[in-house]
Parts: sequence; structure tokens; C-alpha cells
Amino acid sequence: MCDCLFCKIVNGDIPSAKVYEDEKVLAFKDINPQASVHFLVIPKTHIESVDAINEDNSDIVSHIFRLIPQIAKSTGIKNGYRVITNCGPDGCQSVKHLHFHVLGGNQLSEKMA
Ligand code: AMP
Ligand code: ZN
Repeated sequence: MCDCLFCKIVNGDIPSAKVYEDEKVLAFKDINPQASVHFLVIPKTHIESVDAINEDNSDIVSHIFRLIPQIAKSTGIKNGYRVITNCGPDGCQSVKHLHFHVLGGNQLSEKMA
């Protein structure tokens, strides 16, 4: 059995506040929001991080980026947003299942790190 938190969310074993779902992708509100709107977009298949993206699985990344503008709009974001993906220990990745943070709904900090 997969011991990945986000795979458990995909499988419905752990509840989430869904904002979008299709056959390949799930988006849900971050449990510890860092902006007025903060959701995560994940592939339903387990990919560990950006480091694990390759020729065979990279289509999901363009699919996710095509969806982000419409999900952002549907969650009430109007004036821009930030997309972040943390990778590995120095990137402070805490959940080892590829995910894109989308933050918006208020003016964000200029700081990136
Ligand atoms: P990262 O630190 O980039 O790996 O981001 C992991 C994110 O997952 C953090 O922002 C957490 O707040 C979020 N998170 C952890 N558990 C849950 C959960 N059960 N539901 C929604 N978001 C979660
Ligand atoms: Zn997973």
C-alpha cells in the first residue's frame, strides 16, 4: 500500500476540500493556507517531485498549467497569483508527491526565498 499522503487524498482515504477534479488531476485547498486563496494542484498518478518528471510523464505538467488559470478564476482570484513547486530538502518539499501551490487573493510578498 502506498504511504503517500496525497495518494491517500486522491483515493479518498483522507478528506480534502476539492476545488477541481478530472480523471488526471485533483486540486484542493491547502490545509495551512499562506494567502487568502491557497490551493494545491496534483497529478493523480504518483510522481515524487519535479526531479522525477521525464519524457513519459511530462504531459501532466502542461495539463496542470492549462488548468491553473481557470481554477484560479473559479476560486475567486482576480488580480494575479503565484505558482510554486518545492523540490527536495533544500526546496523544503514536505510531501513527496508532485504538487503546485497556487496562492492569490491578496497582494503577495516580493520575497521568493
Ligand atoms: P510542500 O511543503 O511544498 O511539500 O507542501 C505541502 C503542502 O501540503 C503544505 O502547504 C501543507 O500545508 C499541505 N498539506 C499537508 N497536509 C494536507 C492535507 N491533508 N490537506 C491539504 N493540504 C495539506
Ligand atoms: Zn503520491
